[in-house]
Amino acid sequence: MVALDQEFRMSDALLLIHGGAGVPADAGLLAPQREALRDILLAGQRWLAAGAPAVEVVVQTVALLEDCPWFNAGHGAVLNAEGDCELDAAVMDGSRLQAGAVAGLRRTRNPVRAAEALLKGGSRPLMLIGAAADAYAQAQGCEMVTPGYFETPLRRAQWQAWRAAAQSAPRLDHDGRMGTVGAVARDSSGNLAAATSTGGMTGKAVGRIGDSPLIGAGTYADDRVAVSCTGTGEAFIRLAAAHAVAARLRWGGQGLQAAAASVVQEELPRVGGEGGLIALGRSGDGVWAFNTPGMYRGRVGVQAEPRVAVFAD
Ligand code: ASP
Repeated sequence: MVALDQEFRMSDALLLIHGGAGVPADAGLLAPQREALRDILLAGQRWLAAGAPAVEVVVQTVALLEDCPWFNAGHGAVLNAEGDCELDAAVMDGSRLQAGAVAGLRRTRNPVRAAEALLKGGSRPLMLIGAAADAYAQAQGCEMVTPGYFETPLRRAQWQAWRAAAQSAPRLDHDGRMGTVGAVARDSSGNLAAATSTGGMTGKAVGRIGDSPLIGAGTYADDRVAVSCTGTGEAFIRLAAAHAVAARLRWGGQGLQAAAASVVQEELPRVGGEGGLIALGRSGDGVWAFNTPGMYRGRVGVQAEPRVAVFAD
């Protein structure tokens, strides 16, 4: 198992993003995906420099990732067992411990914006599912689309391959292409936020909800750390993986890098969990960790140039 943990120490506002963990089966896809991540980081840099709150930065960033066809979220999401897209997303504002989450969306163009609306509504309700969540998003002014908007020829081909192989188990961004998207940010006031958005796993059961929209599993932020995960969702749920990183910091006395490494390299493999996470602390450090051969990811600060990486590069 290949692993990489990398720690940054920067004192200014900072944004880390991921575009999913897995193995890219088609090297030709790497260039456009890298370019898309770089462009999105540059947009994030402008928001950070303008002093936008962390929660706004992660929502805007994830919305751009959702619009990008290369990643498994929004337009470009993977297909469920019946060949439809069902989308999950969550956002958490660490400074106020407020969150919003949605699951099983079929009509909302940017699921992260539906999650944001719930957060802004005071987290009551915090989470909505299915048609009711789409209706809520519409009532809040989110852009609605027809279900065909989400599907791309690549995802249909992956789904057909999954079905032809008579796969009963859902695949992590089938065929090894990477997917789920996420962002963690620290703003100029030191506040932290995290957001994650996904189409889930190719061939997933209709109605299946993964870790991404579950606060504490795939997404978490408090006053010390913001975390966004990607990988085999059921394993991340069983470990409450995102919160496990926060708990190790708060009560375990571990540093950010050690906490992330423990969860990704020790805890997840014990329950068959493949994937990784990005995490950002209040004190200036950020980390990415994964137990797959690669994870699309990048970071940018107000001054620092964007950095994009896929493997151990
Ligand atoms: N964690 C996502 C899920 O299980 C999948 C992914 O990260 O690619 O729904």
